[in-house]
Amino acid sequence: MNPFSYVTATDPAAARALAAEGAKYLAGGTNLVDLMREGIETPERLVDIGRLPLAGIEDLPGGGLRIGALARNTRVAADRRVLDRYPLLSQAIVNGASPQLRNRATVGGNLLQRTRCGYFYDRHSACGKREPGAGCDALDGFNRMHAVLGAGESCIAVHPSDMCVALAALDAVVNIAGRDPVPLVDFHLLPGDTPHVETVLRPGELVTSIDLPPVPPGHSVYLKVRDRASYAFALVSVAVFTHLEDGRASRVRIALGGVAPKPWRAYEAERLLTGTSLDDHLIDQAAERALADARPREHNAFKPELARRLIRRALKGALS
Ligand code: SF4
Repeated sequence: MNPFSYVTATDPAAARALAAEGAKYLAGGTNLVDLMREGIETPERLVDIGRLPLAGIEDLPGGGLRIGALARNTRVAADRRVLDRYPLLSQAIVNGASPQLRNRATVGGNLLQRTRCGYFYDRHSACGKREPGAGCDALDGFNRMHAVLGAGESCIAVHPSDMCVALAALDAVVNIAGRDPVPLVDFHLLPGDTPHVETVLRPGELVTSIDLPPVPPGHSVYLKVRDRASYAFALVSVAVFTHLEDGRASRVRIALGGVAPKPWRAYEAERLLTGTSLDDHLIDQAAERALADARPREHNAFKPELARRLIRRALKGALS
């Protein structure tokens, strides 16, 4: 590990000033410390933001909820308001990691965690996310875990978060100190020609909280398929929310994880189902449409069909 200095931030402005000069924020450390041990991240200075007053969970006028960026994943998943109003979020977080990790990991860190692409972690492999312009060994390598939607030829890594898939389905908004809030679905970026640029955050910017808008009562399901039930990143996951009025779906949200460089909303599928009675035939069509643009690689050709099946199962589960 490279030498680095460590400071504890006492207020957000001081933390941002240090980060603008190149320091790296440290919160739960569940991803950053691993990256530093592997020599993937080599910050010269860490700013520990763990004591900033950003861990609260508070009601918003109108029925929404604001979750502080430093709220621990365990606490969010167990919060009574989250369980009652946003069970999808709780389900996704519980699916996301071991209890030990959830006890440490923060909401902001979960949002900003980096891909688990094996080539990204191997400094002897070509990786344009780690080293801009270096190419991508995953394209013709062992790409079983990689993206089938939204990727290009520069990078096919997937975003690893479960929590963010639920947040995408819940129309969450990311609050950033000193600038306008950003919808969660716009927060993470597709790789394009700059796979090392992963979010809309500019140097030094600090995520302060996430807002969940009010949602009508409805049914939600989070399903995740992974190699080990105990603890593993998603091969494919799906978050579904449906709200029915008079037997018709007035709101349908479908978000996918494990298939794209960012939490992936299936807007076309949602449009197809909105206003309908969600019959089996339409659900099948929606699942097809959600994966219509899928471009699998050599080792992940199973993902589109797996995603279709999960979407069907989640939608039917949300109706039962
Ligand atoms: Fe790097 Fe992305 Fe290629 Fe993985 S898929 S090796 S993260 S450029």
